[in-house]
Amino acid sequence: MTSQSTAKSPTPDQIRRAPKVLLHDHLDGGLRPATIAELARATGYPRLPHTDPAELGRWFREAADSGSLERYLETFSHTVAVMQTREALVRVAAECAEDLARDGVVYAEVRYAPEQHLEGGLTLEEVVEAVNEGFREGERRAREAGHRIRVGALLTAMRHAARSLEIAELANRYRDEGVVGFDIAGAEAGHPPTRHLDAFEFLKRENNHFTIHAGEAFGLPSIWQALQWCGADRLGHGVRIIDDIQVREDGSVELGRLASYVRDKRIPLELCPSSNLQTGAASSYAEHPIGLLRRLHFRATVNTDNRLMSHTSMSQEFEHLVEAFGYTLDDMQWFSVNAMKSAFIPFDERLAMINDVIKPGYAELKSEWLFR
Ligand SMILES: [Zn+2]
Repeated sequence: MTSQSTAKSPTPDQIRRAPKVLLHDHLDGGLRPATIAELARATGYPRLPHTDPAELGRWFREAADSGSLERYLETFSHTVAVMQTREALVRVAAECAEDLARDGVVYAEVRYAPEQHLEGGLTLEEVVEAVNEGFREGERRAREAGHRIRVGALLTAMRHAARSLEIAELANRYRDEGVVGFDIAGAEAGHPPTRHLDAFEFLKRENNHFTIHAGEAFGLPSIWQALQWCGADRLGHGVRIIDDIQVREDGSVELGRLASYVRDKRIPLELCPSSNLQTGAASSYAEHPIGLLRRLHFRATVNTDNRLMSHTSMSQEFEHLVEAFGYTLDDMQWFSVNAMKSAFIPFDERLAMINDVIKPGYAELKSEWLFR
């Protein structure tokens, strides 16, 4: 392999075919607009702003782009509202796995909050089992279409609610049946993760894994609490770690104690560029901290967060980064291996994915340039 052959920017088609790994994606943030319209009709949900899928898709994007938190949250009230039956959950999860597979994602951890899907009378267990069934169905359909994907579930508890221990216990009960870990999500301000210490301590005693949404809008104290008080294995976003990194005029860089800790301990950062642009955590792709964090060899990973609201996909995220930073297939492979190393499945299974799927996939793409 000549260095020239790998220094080129990959084409959109190569980006799509490249094996990608996704650690931070919300099930209720990734529905197909047509599915929302159909489920609303089937369940008699009357409050959708549009019934035409194309207009509905546009509405979601614009509401998420509006800069208004109320409108942004309204988008989730609609998706969650149509995900209250077993059939709906199975369908949404199956389509999620299918869509990710078609986009070249080979491993994904998709999260959702079981407590938000009880309005139709389902129990927490029934919610988890329906989503698991959907993921298995989606994996099967992807295989039939010639794609390969494995999807694990992360159970999310809401920061403002008081059910985190119950949800952590649920995650633990289903850990060998499709659930690979636990997460805390919701507004950071006023809802510190330390309110949920009993859930985290329970999971640690059970040798289980968890990530915490921290350092998205809120700065370093939130990251510090997630790591040093709660013991998070990964940081959901964590992008504000940039506030502890000083770049001097001559280009030299100084890391504060917390940023050093995050890099030294190889704490995975679940970075979501498009989502950050929408919430104002970054002003452009070129200015997104992922460029510096990758250069400094943090354990950075690329993620979608909410594919519907951000009108994005893993390929789309990488296209933006390739354009902003001139990333090559080597960079894409670096991000993908980083993410696979940081997954919550057992070490030998992660290694097998890296050696049998990810590395051969990138080698094949790079060889296309050699023989052209
Ligand atoms: Zn998120």
